[in-house]
Amino acid sequence: MALSGIQIYKMLPQTNCKECGFPTCLAFAMKLAAKQVELSACPYVTEESKKQLAESAAPPVRLITLKAGTEVKAGNEVVMFRHEKTFYNKPGLFLRLKASDADLAKKAAAADAYKVNYVGMDFTLDGFAIEADGDLSAAVKTVRGVSKRPLILISNDPAALDKALSQLAGETALIYAADPSKYETLADTAAKHKAVLTVRGDSLEALADLTPKIQAKGVEDMVLDLGGKTLGEWLTLSTQARRLALKSNFKPLGYPVIFFAGQNGPEKEPVYAAQAISKYAGFVVLDTFTPELAYALLVLRENIYTDPQKPIQVQPGIYEINAPKPESPVLVTTNFSITYFSVANEVEGSGLPAWLVVTDAEGMSVLTAWAAGKFDAERIAKAVKEFNLAEKVSKKRIVLPGHVAVLSGELEEELSGWEIRVGPREAVDLPAFMKQALN
Ligand code: SF4
Repeated sequence: MALSGIQIYKMLPQTNCKECGFPTCLAFAMKLAAKQVELSACPYVTEESKKQLAESAAPPVRLITLKAGTEVKAGNEVVMFRHEKTFYNKPGLFLRLKASDADLAKKAAAADAYKVNYVGMDFTLDGFAIEADGDLSAAVKTVRGVSKRPLILISNDPAALDKALSQLAGETALIYAADPSKYETLADTAAKHKAVLTVRGDSLEALADLTPKIQAKGVEDMVLDLGGKTLGEWLTLSTQARRLALKSNFKPLGYPVIFFAGQNGPEKEPVYAAQAISKYAGFVVLDTFTPELAYALLVLRENIYTDPQKPIQVQPGIYEINAPKPESPVLVTTNFSITYFSVANEVEGSGLPAWLVVTDAEGMSVLTAWAAGKFDAERIAKAVKEFNLAEKVSKKRIVLPGHVAVLSGELEEELSGWEIRVGPREAVDLPAFMKQALN
């Protein structure tokens, strides 16, 4: 049973020292009761209180980690909506491969090698789900020959799962799936190999009935397959399961969820996968791998699983694009990642050399930073001086983003001896501007 804020408060030191970041112990206790902070934020909780608070401090959705050469974590979430705090562990994207597929090695190798850079971050798929009617061992060996990523093993044959897990010593794989008819055997297999066990049920009630029985057999790490055939059913089931876990601290459903996005055909797969990523999958199994689909889903996932209160940023500094020379033009922008990459990619793609001064605007885009007073003449001038730009260039000329043309007069005063030019409003127009106006 979850403890109330007042009950938690009684177990805290009650000194109001503020080290946890809250003005009072009561405020911290309320946040802890709402699962919005970690108990470890208070360094003064006694060991006895820690034990009593363990249940309140435990995440409502259990953290599950699949391990091989890489790791995939799912669960440990504490909010329904990302704007309330943040989502922590991105759902793992797995590609389902049939053990009988003659091109198994080729398909696995292609998906394993896929890597794409998005605003400075490298994205890949997370692992493979290998499915067989019977024996899995040959397919596991084949996939392991080309990939070290975590595996999900799918088979109706418990003996085949047991045999395949024996090949994966030292790894943590996910096996699929326990239902009322064979949960005891699969629970024993999962316990024996320290594997994670998927639990499948026709309803939330059936799942809630099964997970405590599996737990009683010594398996703590589980993943839920909620069923559901349509987008509407998926959304309803996943929202109900998440709400029960978070809002009612209902432990039998406090596990990450797995979705099979391709079950209604390849045409619908992107939409099903996108919804699963958004609401609230821990693992998404795809039947199709194409770079276009993978890229769209990975970017969507990144956007949903970034902290909405912390913009993604690049390091302020001077970036050299296309090996600039002292006479090459100087551009300036902010350190919001998307802004930086919009500018850098356009200039890089044009082949034109340039120096790009990236100012510390606390991760805001040009107009937002200007409106917030984080991108003004003083800050730009400070960056130019701090990064010793004058020593790198022979032509003291700097190009402002067109949206902040209003800063040109002030910047002239701040940077005496520099020519201030107003560039285009959009990054896409920079190459033409550089060719026409800066020669
Ligand atoms: S750090 Fe602990 S003792 Fe200090 S205010 Fe926070 S909860 Fe209270």
